[in-house]
Amino acid sequence: MIRQFELVERVKAYDPKADEDLINRAYVFSMKAHGSQRRASGDAYFLHPLEVAGILADMKLDTGSIVTGLLHDTVEDTVATLTDIESKFGKEIAQLVDGVTKLSKLELQSDTSKQAENFRKLVVAMSRDIRVLLVKLSDRLHNMRTLYHIKSEDKRHRIARETLEIYAPLAERIGMHEMKDELDDLAFTYLNPDARDSIVRRLAQLKEEGGDLIAMVIKELGDILTADGLDAEVAGREKRPYSIWRKMQRKDMAFEQLLDIMALRILVNNVPDCYQAMGLLHSRYASLPGRFKDYVSTPKPNGYQSLHTAVIGPYQQRIEVQIRTRAMHEVAELGVAAHWTYKQGQPKQSGPQYRWLRELLDILDQAQRPEEFLEHTKMELFQDQVFCFTPKGLLIALPQGATPVDFAYAVHSEIGDTCVGSKVNGRLVTLRQRLQNGDQVEIVNSKTSTPSPEWERFVVTGKARARIRRFVRLQQRSQYVELGRAMLQKVWRQEGYEFSDKALDGVLKNLKASSTEDIYANVGAGLNGAREIFNAVFPGHRSAAQPQKDGKVVPIGRARKSKGKSKDQPVAIRGLIPGMAVHYARCCHPIPGDRIVGIVTTGKGVTIHTIDCETLESFYETPERWLDVSWDEAADEHTGRLHAILANEPGSLGTLSTVIGKNGGNITNLKITHRSTDFFEMLIDIDVSDLRHLSNIIAALRATPVISAVDRARSG
Ligand code: MN
Repeated sequence: MIRQFELVERVKAYDPKADEDLINRAYVFSMKAHGSQRRASGDAYFLHPLEVAGILADMKLDTGSIVTGLLHDTVEDTVATLTDIESKFGKEIAQLVDGVTKLSKLELQSDTSKQAENFRKLVVAMSRDIRVLLVKLSDRLHNMRTLYHIKSEDKRHRIARETLEIYAPLAERIGMHEMKDELDDLAFTYLNPDARDSIVRRLAQLKEEGGDLIAMVIKELGDILTADGLDAEVAGREKRPYSIWRKMQRKDMAFEQLLDIMALRILVNNVPDCYQAMGLLHSRYASLPGRFKDYVSTPKPNGYQSLHTAVIGPYQQRIEVQIRTRAMHEVAELGVAAHWTYKQGQPKQSGPQYRWLRELLDILDQAQRPEEFLEHTKMELFQDQVFCFTPKGLLIALPQGATPVDFAYAVHSEIGDTCVGSKVNGRLVTLRQRLQNGDQVEIVNSKTSTPSPEWERFVVTGKARARIRRFVRLQQRSQYVELGRAMLQKVWRQEGYEFSDKALDGVLKNLKASSTEDIYANVGAGLNGAREIFNAVFPGHRSAAQPQKDGKVVPIGRARKSKGKSKDQPVAIRGLIPGMAVHYARCCHPIPGDRIVGIVTTGKGVTIHTIDCETLESFYETPERWLDVSWDEAADEHTGRLHAILANEPGSLGTLSTVIGKNGGNITNLKITHRSTDFFEMLIDIDVSDLRHLSNIIAALRATPVISAVDRARSG
């Protein structure tokens, strides 16, 4: 265990100005918060954040990172809150801890390997401050180092796979090669222990056979360089079993061939020494053509600098050599972390957070292949996206501002068309709620439900909008057709004729319509007047009927029964989403007056149980399926009366009835109380399930352009 003063000393060794007091307080706070918690190993839990802080100190990171390392699990796993952290350690640390906590939560939600790339992007997006990612990677590294304590093989595999597919590539992208190699190799240990064992065994065997060839080569090169007055350090580059395994997979190479190539690194003090060292090697040994690369004068976009070359070295051994200064080496090993060391100090912390992201994106922009470049440019877009999960953990990427309706359509058109409600992170929310990164979204569907035109006002995805529009058009058309036919029948009746579909056959061409249905639709939509059509069919006919007197009640006829009222549901239940199917449990036969709960059943809607029903025990594990419901003592259908003012223009009445029908209202009576050249005033009786339902309809009507005012009618 690293003791308190040791940690502080380690940090002070590279950063004399480190905030000693802050580190000390974080150490004590974390130790107290984790208290007697234990890890799977039986060790005190506090050892874990402490080791994570140690890894961060190895990377020579700033005080903020070290303190975040110490505190990173306190909010998730102890009673400490973010507010505590903020009041004790300040806003910056609180934000860092919050970032790491959020990442850890996401981890629990998704482990499907084909989502790895999306998930990696999500992790980056969530890491507004790159230090969040550095702490998270260190956290993962320590968890991997101690993974053998986890008893369940499944869990070990899941974590190892996640490391291999998500965290190691992330470490690589931000240039942390050391960490990437170790993460890869640890994951390999759990995912393919046999392959790793055999590679390790053959490595040992070859070393034995070849004597200490590497040591001999290193010594000879070192002698050549020092003889020329260079202060140089020659080292063998360790080949990790996993990278050998990968090369064997990719390059179809034999084991011996791979091992054949020796990899060395030469570290010097300054840039001229780099070139001098290379000159010495090239003058002494034959260089392999095409292998020389100068990343010193032209650094890679992530800042990596080094000279690369390959020669036939001592003992006729082929050697790959990297030559660089010690400062370049630090960047090469630590990648982006090198930018966060104490040396960069304070100024960067005061800048806006996105500068860090910007910097990260620049690093990611090292476009080695065009597709990679494309992929990285997508990362920028990605800031405008939110990533949500289905209950099964599938990741759905949506634009910022997306709602559950967008989510539903992104999953499947059918799911979108029939969605009636949604739960975000287990809580019921409205369909217009804006989704956040990492939200788990469950869509409630009802087979009989259809898209609401209202949705178009808040959806943000093209797919959702297109589907809703298409549906509304189709729906409107069929309503216009019905309305148009009724209007024509009425005119025919008024004029003393029996109306039939055939009546219009003769005038189709005249009216430039391709079918009688088109004519109905046009009349219903107000594009043609019903009387105009009549006159076309009976040219020269003199009207016999008197216009109807204003004020007369015109029964519209009962439209379809409002949704969600199956025979199964004789009494209304409060707390349900409109349109949801309801069943009464056969185990407890709830009746009005019983205290009840609803259980959401996939594909079946909601089942109502009495609160003391024993069946409920089997749902204790899934609290997200519980719905708070109660009996609605009142009758199941009420008539609400609205007073509305409509523009006196063709089609406005049709629009009114469409909007009401769309929202599940059933018009039972309609009375025009006043009519002027510009406006109608009318009273409308609508059967609704409750006040909220009526309010919905009022809101929908108010949102309709041809309707200038709608209110509850309080008298008459
Ligand atoms: Mn942790």
